[in-house]
Amino acid sequence: MQDVVAEDKKWFMQVYGSQPVVFVGGEGVFLRDALGARYLDFSAQFSACSLGHNNQELVNALKDQMERLICVSPMFVTKERVQLARMLARLAPGGLGKCVFGCTGSDANEFALKVAKCYRGGGKIISFWRGYHGATAGAAAATGKAETIQTDRRIAELLPAGFIHAAPPYCYRCDFGRTYPECELFCLKFLETQILHEGEERIAALIIEPVFAAGGVIVPPDGYLPALRRLCDKHGVLLIFDEVVTGIGRTGKMFACQHWNVAPDILVSGKALTGGYIPGSAVIARQDIGEALDSVVLHGHTHSAYPLMCASAIKNLEIILRDRLCEHARDVGEYLKSRLLELKSEFPVIGDVRGIGLLQGIEIVRDPSTKEPDHELGHVLFEDFLSRGLITELESRKNLNNCVIVLHPPLITQKEHVDMAIDIMRRSFRACLGTRRSET
Ligand code: PLP
Repeated sequence: MQDVVAEDKKWFMQVYGSQPVVFVGGEGVFLRDALGARYLDFSAQFSACSLGHNNQELVNALKDQMERLICVSPMFVTKERVQLARMLARLAPGGLGKCVFGCTGSDANEFALKVAKCYRGGGKIISFWRGYHGATAGAAAATGKAETIQTDRRIAELLPAGFIHAAPPYCYRCDFGRTYPECELFCLKFLETQILHEGEERIAALIIEPVFAAGGVIVPPDGYLPALRRLCDKHGVLLIFDEVVTGIGRTGKMFACQHWNVAPDILVSGKALTGGYIPGSAVIARQDIGEALDSVVLHGHTHSAYPLMCASAIKNLEIILRDRLCEHARDVGEYLKSRLLELKSEFPVIGDVRGIGLLQGIEIVRDPSTKEPDHELGHVLFEDFLSRGLITELESRKNLNNCVIVLHPPLITQKEHVDMAIDIMRRSFRACLGTRRSET
């Protein structure tokens, strides 16, 4: 494996950082490395691989489609694209009715921002600190994780202007030092002040993840999204939900916003939309907003809406609905959370356990009373989990003052897999904390 890792360093730009593991196969919730070791995949290609690895039904649907028709320029209609658009319009909340397809979450967010600006005749975009919306220019400008691109002088000029960042509903580390529910959602009162200072007529839209994923699995308190919807309506601001991570069953509903019965004006889906084997994304807009864009040729990619992507998403959605994987993700997710809470009671370095459905996070701190993040321990744990056969995601940023290990396994994960993961985590916590004690 070490040779391949060394070759990778030579030939591939190391923009993701590389772990010293080379995967060669996968089955269900497991990946297999070149030496034959098995790993529980609780990252699932950053939430994309919803049906697990090597799902034969999805693979066969892709094979069928490949033998029939793969490539058609997006200027032509295909049955697959119509079928997927109709399906998404039926599944989306609040009568959202008109779709366009893309390749990644980033380009779908770009399109959503363009749609909103065109519909409103221009205007600024409000987004949130700690939110993540992608790596392309507009999506990166909306992103509120400053160290990714905003603060890198060499590339920061790629970012467009006109983005305003607001405080996220991160109750564990409230930017205003308040506590829910006594705060009466002070963050939204402050947001309203921001809107008024900017001038509501100069704001096109607000984009938010219903549950912030990469920012550290931030689940808003119950009243937040309904109140945000009212605030947007009051000031004529379009509401965009970035459900690139949270959509397609991840949180136990088809779309996370359905937990709070709140519908956006524009909804963005990606990652797990296709089941993750091939890339694909979608923007689903209110009918009138979508219609206003019908005559504007402003955006698109060579691979937008190609039949193979549409066929993959259709089959993936059919399987999720037939096998009731949203309900399954809710049940197994609740179980995962309860087991993580057990770990929290054993290891005080777990400051918080947060999440919904199969998107859960544990916040790593030096001391739960100070909540000081422990970035070093987070890294050690992440690598130790991996060495013991558990793949997770680490979101650890010093300038954002938090360190969260994110768990988002495939929707097909069973309780026995959760038990295996918890067992690895427990052994790892004991080993890493024990080593640390013996070093001091
Ligand atoms: N939106 C959210 C909430 C994400 O987490 C991501 C990626 O992690 C994106 C958008 C960008 O998606 P992609 O990496 O497919 O461009």
